[in-house]
Amino acid sequence: MSFKSLGLKEALIKAVEEKGYTKPSPIQEKAIPHILEGKDILASAQTGTGKTAGFTLPVLQYLSDTKHPKYRPLRALVLTPTRELAAQVYDNVREYSKYVNIKSAVVFGGVNAKPQIATLKSGVDILVATPGRLLDLHDQKAVSFKRIDVLILDEADRMLDMGFVRDINKLISFMPEKRQNLMFSATFSKDIKKLAEGILRNPVSVETAPQNSTAKKVTHKVFKVDKNKKTEFTIKLIKDNNWNQVLIFTRTKHGANKLTEKLIKAGISAAAIHGNKSQGARTKALKNFKDNSIKILVATDIAARGLDIPLLPHVINFELPNVPEDYVHRIGRTGRAGAAGEAISLVCSEETEYQNEIEKLLNEKLKSNIVEGFEPTDTAPPKRAASQSKGSFGKKKRPGNSNSSEGNKAKRKPHFKGNKPTSTSGRGRTGAPKKKRF
Ligand code: AMP
Repeated sequence: MSFKSLGLKEALIKAVEEKGYTKPSPIQEKAIPHILEGKDILASAQTGTGKTAGFTLPVLQYLSDTKHPKYRPLRALVLTPTRELAAQVYDNVREYSKYVNIKSAVVFGGVNAKPQIATLKSGVDILVATPGRLLDLHDQKAVSFKRIDVLILDEADRMLDMGFVRDINKLISFMPEKRQNLMFSATFSKDIKKLAEGILRNPVSVETAPQNSTAKKVTHKVFKVDKNKKTEFTIKLIKDNNWNQVLIFTRTKHGANKLTEKLIKAGISAAAIHGNKSQGARTKALKNFKDNSIKILVATDIAARGLDIPLLPHVINFELPNVPEDYVHRIGRTGRAGAAGEAISLVCSEETEYQNEIEKLLNEKLKSNIVEGFEPTDTAPPKRAASQSKGSFGKKKRPGNSNSSEGNKAKRKPHFKGNKPTSTSGRGRTGAPKKKRF
């Protein structure tokens, strides 16, 4: 299978070849032909599978083939949960559109809105955005959605978890009824399926891995260790094994800061990445981690979403997530692109229920280990996992963890008003034939 046989044009193939892609990834093979036909897609795909090119290439083809010679309304919108993912997707869009006459832009919060407004006013074909800032810009009339032909929801599960459903529905209410919708998600909970039902019309399901399964080449290792010994144990693991590039997950921003400080004190170069860090600090930490000028990146779940960190050999769960699906996301950072990886979890007595819930989701028992000198003595009772508590729809409760939510939108109640399909007629993009476009 080649990019050409998928129906992509030369200008796009040239751009991906320059990126060093020789053949389409499985998700690209499966999704691109359907997207080119104008169909809605519900795709199960994690970061690292090549999903960004999977949706960007066919959308760029559509945009460049149907472009008005003078007029440039916004016709394609990619929504992402985090700023990092937005920046990353935008970088890809720019690279893939190098040889087609398409203008792209990115907008997200935490930075000055003025340059974003100026860019939008100058005319953009495809925009990558986080929902909150985009709504603000729409309120200020800096952008119109009246001509949107394609809506892409990237990492929809995370957007739901961060409480963005209400914002997304509001944004959609300003868009034409007739449009193509592409939804990507790493996990498929009931809530995600419900969100998909409200947005997608007769979607084609595209799957590259069994639902909620983890990459096959990842080995899971649990170390039973007391809560107050975890930092010491982490330092020992890194030093004894001489690890050079490790992503560590903590459940809270405060926990990420504390661990980072202690690692640095122990002579291990590290940086933290979470929602309280400025955009500049987050970008710098990620860059330093990628080019290996720091060994350890300590991240919270939300900040780490969508980060493109290739071939990561080790991921450490300093604390287990209380939302079991987050475990799948976390370890999606290792064992990518066919390389083997190791997912290590430090589990104290309070976290045994979290482990049970994760094992249920994975349908696999995680092997527990005890290391001499770190034998567990904690007796604190286990906390309940999020899937056991009755959280409101769209935002799972994170018991005992009020510090973990980075999306300030998380408290908003999701709603689905005005978003149910109203027409049973076939959908196509505005002004485009219903089935085949070209
Ligand atoms: P994504 O899942 O979209 O974040 O992509 C993960 C990584 O795979 C990125 O570094 C892409 O540049 C790369 N990639 C995407 N498509 C291909 C391909 N067909 N061949 C090789 N690498 C790819």
